[in-house]
Amino acid sequence: MLSGSGSLMWFRKGLRVHDNPALEYASRGSTCVYPLFVIDPHYMELDPNAYSPGSTRAGINRIRFLLESLADLDSSLKKLGSRLLVLKGEPSEVLIRCLNEWDVRKLCFEYDTDPYYQALDDKAKNYASAAGIEVFSPVSHTIFDPADIIEKNGGRPPLSYQSFLKLAGEPSFSLSVELSWMPPVGDVGRCEILQVPTLKELGYVEKHQDEFTPFRGGESEALRRLRESLSDKEWVANFEKPKGDPSAYIKPATTVLSPYLKFGCLSSRYFYQCLKDVYKNVKRHTSPPVSLVGQLLWREFFYTVAFGTPNFDEMKGNKICKQIPWNDDDKLLAAWREARTGYPWIDAIMVQLRKWGWMHHLARHSVACFLTRGDLFVHWEKGRDIFERLLIDSDWAINNGNWLWLSCSSFFYQAFSPHTKRHAKGIYI
Ligand code: FAD
Repeated sequence: MLSGSGSLMWFRKGLRVHDNPALEYASRGSTCVYPLFVIDPHYMELDPNAYSPGSTRAGINRIRFLLESLADLDSSLKKLGSRLLVLKGEPSEVLIRCLNEWDVRKLCFEYDTDPYYQALDDKAKNYASAAGIEVFSPVSHTIFDPADIIEKNGGRPPLSYQSFLKLAGEPSFSLSVELSWMPPVGDVGRCEILQVPTLKELGYVEKHQDEFTPFRGGESEALRRLRESLSDKEWVANFEKPKGDPSAYIKPATTVLSPYLKFGCLSSRYFYQCLKDVYKNVKRHTSPPVSLVGQLLWREFFYTVAFGTPNFDEMKGNKICKQIPWNDDDKLLAAWREARTGYPWIDAIMVQLRKWGWMHHLARHSVACFLTRGDLFVHWEKGRDIFERLLIDSDWAINNGNWLWLSCSSFFYQAFSPHTKRHAKGIYI
């Protein structure tokens, strides 16, 4: 049904209205816009046999965080005169059905480097081009385009942070225009549109009340947290990652913006620009790799390497990963996962992972190192899987990248310690 000039805005990550170039493009010159989110069984299908409530791939904390983010997005869209259309099913099938039945001339979605989305997006793009539908898929989940950096490096991803920084230089994005209104939602025909569901409606029983992250999902909360962090200019200017206290729970030592960046409730480009604005107004500030901007650049680094490395999430077939004869001891793994190692620090962190789905970076270091090269010698992929399911900020590129690093499987690095006057291998901040 190609009569008017409707657009379909396909939300996956990028759950925000600020700095959202795909949404801006979808709204520009369109008679109607269909803002769509598809509940994907791949991530959401209930797993009654899982070791803690949730789906096979996501714990209850992250699913709750996602639903809160969707409800917040729906409310922001309503303020602009639109609303979120929620459907359920295999995303590319649902999308193709919508493109077929709705009045759509432009398909807009944020570019995604994760292999799962790359495969989905290929299907969507192939269908759209065959149907004469324009596709707009800008890079806005990251500050840099990983493909550009890889190209600048002769087709290979840079394997050290310093070489990444040299190649990347200063970013050259411009933030997208803030929307003050949106075209109305078009006619959805026979499609049964859902409201943003509750956990219960998706079939999850919240029987484990202790799994309750204190971090609420959504763009509004992301922007509030960002403002709160940035209001202390001295703190921002003096931020040095290794100096934070990983056991500060009441007021964490870092921003806790990672889950918002993961779902795109917060634009990394906007965050970056806000930090640069703070730096302009202070006499002195810290620099990468330890500064706050430096933390965002670690994110960019891992996205770039992950995008340019086949089988990045596996030991076998991954050219940058050391082949190590890890053991596959499921009893040791279960003791680690269930906080029964007998080491109070390790067990406390694993309790925090289960209850909150978020821990400080150095706490993640401790448990990842303990499970792999430090003590239990269990395969990093097993620990990665548990983080991937339970973290609310679980991110394919960053999680795999950090496990590769912490298990000393890749990115091997020597740091000079001013205290011991020795090079310590495998350490980074
Ligand atoms: P801040 O220190 O406030 O930093 C701001 C932002 O910079 C973060 O929100 C994050 O997006 C980015 N950032 C900070 N540190 C890193 C880093 N080392 N690598 C990449 N990006 C970084 N982070 C995730 O977002 N998702 C994951 O799945 C994840 N898995 C990890 C697994 C292991 C084994 C380890 C050691 C670290 C992992 N991290 C992961 C990285 C890091 O621990 C978290 O990003 C950070 O603790 C989030 O807290 P924050 O938002 O307060 O960070």
